[in-house]
Amino acid sequence: MTLRLFNTLSGQLDPLIPLDGKALGMYACGPTVYDYGHIGNFRTFLHIDVLRRFLRLTGVEVRQVMNITDVDDKIIRNAAAAGQPIGAYTAPYEEAFFADLDALRIERPELIARATDHIPQMAALIERLAKAGAAYRTDDGSWYFRIAAFPAYGKLSKKDLSGMEDGARVDVDDYEKDSARDFALWKAAKPGETSWETPLGRGRPGWHIECSTMAMEYLGESFDLHAGGEDLIFPHHENEIAQSETATGKPFARHWMHVRFLLVDGRKMSKSEGNFYTLRDLLLKGYRASAIRLALISVPYRHPLNFTFDSLADSTGAIDRLRTFRARLVSGPFPEGQNPALEAAALAAREAYRAALANDLNTADARAPVFDLVRSANTAMDKSEFFLGNRAAVLAVLEDFDAVFAVIADHDAEATRRALAWARGSGRMDSVAPELVASASISDAEVDTLVAERNQAKKQRNFARADAIRAQLAAKGIVIEDSKDGTRWKRK
Ligand code: AMP
Ligand code: ZN
Repeated sequence: MTLRLFNTLSGQLDPLIPLDGKALGMYACGPTVYDYGHIGNFRTFLHIDVLRRFLRLTGVEVRQVMNITDVDDKIIRNAAAAGQPIGAYTAPYEEAFFADLDALRIERPELIARATDHIPQMAALIERLAKAGAAYRTDDGSWYFRIAAFPAYGKLSKKDLSGMEDGARVDVDDYEKDSARDFALWKAAKPGETSWETPLGRGRPGWHIECSTMAMEYLGESFDLHAGGEDLIFPHHENEIAQSETATGKPFARHWMHVRFLLVDGRKMSKSEGNFYTLRDLLLKGYRASAIRLALISVPYRHPLNFTFDSLADSTGAIDRLRTFRARLVSGPFPEGQNPALEAAALAAREAYRAALANDLNTADARAPVFDLVRSANTAMDKSEFFLGNRAAVLAVLEDFDAVFAVIADHDAEATRRALAWARGSGRMDSVAPELVASASISDAEVDTLVAERNQAKKQRNFARADAIRAQLAAKGIVIEDSKDGTRWKRK
C-alpha cells in the first residue's frame, strides 16, 4: 500500500516512494533549544512521527535526520543574559526536548545533527555559493544570499515576487512573510558574541544554511522528503531550496510536507503570543501523555487544530475504552469457534484503517473503523457471541492501530513520574495538581502490597480493614477495580 501524501511543492497528492528503492530519506526541521517546547511544536513532531510509523507499518524503511538549532539570535541573547556559554545554556533544553519526545512516544530520528557541530561544512557551502555568484559579502563581514541569482525563488510558497526589491537585505532569521529579501548566510562576529573562525571570516551561521548543510551532508544533494510546520514554508524552506539548488544544480527535496498550526482561540499557539502550554504544564496538571498525543494527532495534519481541554478529556475516555477492551480481549475466556460476521468486520476495519492513513495520513478517518470494531466486539462479548477464533483478527487491528497511534500500550505513569521529578528538581511543585502530588507519594510496589493486604482482609471477611485500605489508596489517587479475574488498580 503506497502512501499518497500532499506535496506543498507540486500542490497535489504524490506517492511517497524512496528514490533509492531502499530507505526513505527524510529531513525534519528540529527545535531551537532556547526554551521548553510547547504543544504546538509537538503537534508538528507528532504528525511527522505518524508519517514515519505508517511508512514502517507498510514496510518502508526510514532514514530520518533532524537538526537541533543550538545557535541563533535568541540563544545568544538569552545565554548572554544568563551569563553562560551557549552550550551550557542550551543543554538542559535539548535534554528536555528528548524527554518530551519520549513522553509523547515520538520515535527518535535515525540521525540527530547539532548546528554547532557542522560549522565548517556550512562555511564550505557558503563559499560554493560565493563562487557561483549567488553569495556576497557586506562591509561588516557578513554574507548574504542574492535571491535574484535563483530564478525559481518562490516556487514552494507560490509567492508573487514582482514587487521584490533587488538587493534589499534582511539579517534576522525569521522575517516578514510578504517580502522576499536577500537573507543572511553568515553573520559577522559582534563583540562578546559566540563566533567561529572560518575562511569566510569570524562569525556564525544564519538559520537557513544550517538545514541545507545538514540535510545534504546526511541525505545527499537530492532526497525524498522535507518536513516542518506550516510557518516554515516561507522564508525558511524557500531559502533552503534556493541555497541548495543554486549550489548543486540538482533538485533538493522532492516532497515537502507541512503540518498546519495548533491554534488557541483561532490564533497560532506561540511563545510570542503567550498563549501556549508546554507538555510539562499539561502533565503536571494531571493530563496523561497518551491523551495529549491522541488529541494532537486525531485531527489530520492538513487541518489546523484548535486546542481545548475538552479534547484532552475526550481522548482520555477513548484511550480508556481501548485499554479496557484490549485487556478484555487478551484475558477472555471465550468459547471455541468463530463468529464469521465479526471476523469479516475485523478484516474490513484493518483494511479501512490502512487505506485512510495511505490517503494523505487521514488520522480521523483511520480512527473511526477501529472504534467501531471495538464497539461491535464489546457487544458480541456481552452477548457471548465472541469466540476464541475471533481474537487474533481483532488483536491485529489493535496492533496496527498502536503501531501508529501508540496510545494503547501504557507508558503514562513513567511520563508523569519524570515530569514530577523535573518539577521537584526545578522548584515548580506549586504548579502541580494536588492529586498528582499525592499519587507520586506512593510507589507501585507499595500499592501492590496494600492491594494484596486488602484481598487478604476480604478473604478473612475483615471488611473494615479492606475498606480502610481502599480509602487510603483513593486518597492518593489510586483506583481499585475488582472483577472475577482478580483486582486491578490504576492511578487516576
Ligand atoms: P521552533 O522550535 O520554534 O523552531 O519550532 C519547531 C517546530 O514546531 C517547527 O516545525 C515549527 O513550524 C513548529 N510549530 C511552531 N508553532 C507551531 C504551532 N502553533 N502549531 C504547529 N506547529 C508549530
Ligand atoms: Zn530547517
